[in-house]
Amino acid sequence: MRLLLTTAQGIEDIAKKEIMELLKENTVTIQEKPFNVEGRLLVEVKETFYTDEKGRKRPFEFATYLNEKSKTLHRVIIEIASHEFKGITEENPEKALKRIEEFTVNIPVERFIKVTESFAVRAFRKGEHTITSVDIARVVGKAIFDRLSRIGSPIVNLDHPSTIVRAELINEAFFLGIDTTGDHSLHRRPWRVYDHPAHLKASIANALIELAEVEDGASFIDPFCGSGTIPIELALRGYQGRIICLEKFAKHLNGAKMNALAAGVFDKIEFIKGDARRLSKYVDEVDFAVSNLPYGLKIGRKSMIPSLYERFFDELSKVLQKRGVFITTEKEAIEKAIEEVGFKITHYRIIGHGGLRVHTYVIS
Ligand code: SAM
Repeated sequence: MRLLLTTAQGIEDIAKKEIMELLKENTVTIQEKPFNVEGRLLVEVKETFYTDEKGRKRPFEFATYLNEKSKTLHRVIIEIASHEFKGITEENPEKALKRIEEFTVNIPVERFIKVTESFAVRAFRKGEHTITSVDIARVVGKAIFDRLSRIGSPIVNLDHPSTIVRAELINEAFFLGIDTTGDHSLHRRPWRVYDHPAHLKASIANALIELAEVEDGASFIDPFCGSGTIPIELALRGYQGRIICLEKFAKHLNGAKMNALAAGVFDKIEFIKGDARRLSKYVDEVDFAVSNLPYGLKIGRKSMIPSLYERFFDELSKVLQKRGVFITTEKEAIEKAIEEVGFKITHYRIIGHGGLRVHTYVIS
């Protein structure tokens, strides 16, 4: 069986590492960015069985397992077919849709979708095309309906389907599969009861924690913690060590507390209302700092960012013992501030977050 896994762009390698640790020897192959599509992984898993409490042999449901355990994935899709539609980005709508429909109708979807159960197609499209995701959902839905009609009476239920079929067209790559995650991406954590206007995706929070290589027993701070995504995700990983969530605005800090309560990790985090430009007032030293810095887009003004970063990194240099990981859209401002106080950039990458390309730095 092959699984198409989705995650944030730019953290495919971190997701791959996590999946390999979760699936262990059950992974046959794992491919990052199939057809060069960012934010996707294709994993082939060995068919594996276990014996249930009644002594029956049952297949191990890897998709369910990954939905429950993964911290970096957005979706777990059982692959039905993948295909590269060369030239589809240039084609007129009729031709492009006809190619997709003809391709889909020839796939034995009845092996994946029970004709007695309802289905719906959810389409996703990215890149330059002459067709929309609504067009794709329509033709793929029709092709599946026609195919299933050969063996019975298919049932479509667009609102509450038993089976969600996901059709993705990303540039020239087309993926068709059963979406086992459902209508809500895994990065939308159930603990998020307070919705910060600029919150970080939990998958990216975990990737940043991985990049920091935090060590159990060490102290950790998110100095711009907002609704607490990074500290909460760290606490949920069972981290043993001091975790501090610092935030300037009471509204967001209260939101972080509410989120931590909902996540069941309130007692594991110290919440401090304070200004990161005066970091050394609140902590004498801290081993790790990981943060999604203010960008000046949704909160505050862009013009205040350079001086905010300069003052923050100056303070950080007084207290940071090991490593820091920071993400921002403000490349010039962060690089200037980091270098001015003598930190060394040990790793850099770009991560896709909410339609933005954010710059990510590991410093020591
Ligand atoms: N990662 C957070 C989350 O997932 O909710 C969002 C962080 S948001 C990009 C940046 C946060 O920094 C905002 O909540 C903002 O109120 C806070 N902030 C801005 N200036 C600050 C300062 N000087 N000290 C501490 N926090 C500050």
